Amino acid sequence: MTRDYDTTNSVALSVVDIDATLEEALERMRQDQRSGIVATDGTRYWLLHAADVVIALAVPDSGRTLRDLPRARIPVPVAPQAYESKTMLRHWLDSVASKYVVMDILHHRVRVVTYHEELQLRLESSPVNCYCAVDKKPVPSGANGGTCPDGHAGQVCCI
Ligand SMILES: [Zn+2]
Repeated sequence: MTRDYDTTNSVALSVVDIDATLEEALERMRQDQRSGIVATDGTRYWLLHAADVVIALAVPDSGRTLRDLPRARIPVPVAPQAYESKTMLRHWLDSVASKYVVMDILHHRVRVVTYHEELQLRLESSPVNCYCAVDKKPVPSGANGGTCPDGHAGQVCCI
């Protein structure tokens, strides 16, 4: 049965254990050519952006695994089994005040649905090696400690 949501509103992402290392998570995102990954403890799901993983790798003592990044991890609810339309799913997302929902959960793969186009676009690109620590935007040709195109001085983090 085809579910009534448009795949244009979703991104397929890898699922890794919450104890996966930052390096493992980044490698998976590179393979997937996606700037996001979903961590799970077997029950709950969190979305992590490539920017947060790269910045944590660039900044000493930020942590070693996805578990070590509690502030960067965005809790993402699982879609209810019984919703009849995209509109219902959308209303449900509003009711739980989440911008993302996970569905179609397979062992190592999940579909993240979002109705925020800019958030979806952010996930759909490949990770880069440098991000601005202030706005988390990619800085493709940046240098560690540099200034981002938006003028955040000394905030570029590179690996
Ligand atoms: Zn910036």
